[in-house]
Amino acid sequence: MSILKVRLYGDPALRKKAAPVKDIGDNEKKLFEDMAQTMYAANGVGLAATQVGVDKQLIVVDVGSGLLKLANPKIVHASCKKMGEEGCLSFPEVTVKIKRPEKIKIGALNHNGQAVNIEAEGLSARALQHEMDHLDGVVIIDKIGIRQRLGIAGKLRKIKKGGNFNG
Ligand code: ZN
Repeated sequence: MSILKVRLYGDPALRKKAAPVKDIGDNEKKLFEDMAQTMYAANGVGLAATQVGVDKQLIVVDVGSGLLKLANPKIVHASCKKMGEEGCLSFPEVTVKIKRPEKIKIGALNHNGQAVNIEAEGLSARALQHEMDHLDGVVIIDKIGIRQRLGIAGKLRKIKKGGNFNG
């Protein structure tokens, strides 16, 4: 296993739309493992493949109740929305408030390539939706209003300035 480089705000990789995977082969299994290790090393609760520069629809999430490794996740049901705090490994030290459905049902492939349905709520539902956004090239600053955006403008500038977007 290896720790991958997490792309930061400003990196064009974060804006790519990930393609669905046909099945879970050795490459996908290795990527799941590396993504999980990268997420744990950074003390994150989720990571999407686009964040490590791979445009495949793969995400890992662990909010403390076990590791989920999912491919091609799609929301099949969503409840009413609730506001909650969110951070992102691609936006170090940035926290924003985002309104999202509190409970969701997802259809996906698991790490063995089997079709699964997952019901999630609270932090787990939030983390899953956050990672699914990444697969569409959507990041947290796309989900906030101008007031919050102004509040984090200095931090965003700092991340962009310190970024290394060669890889
Ligand atoms: Zn993120």
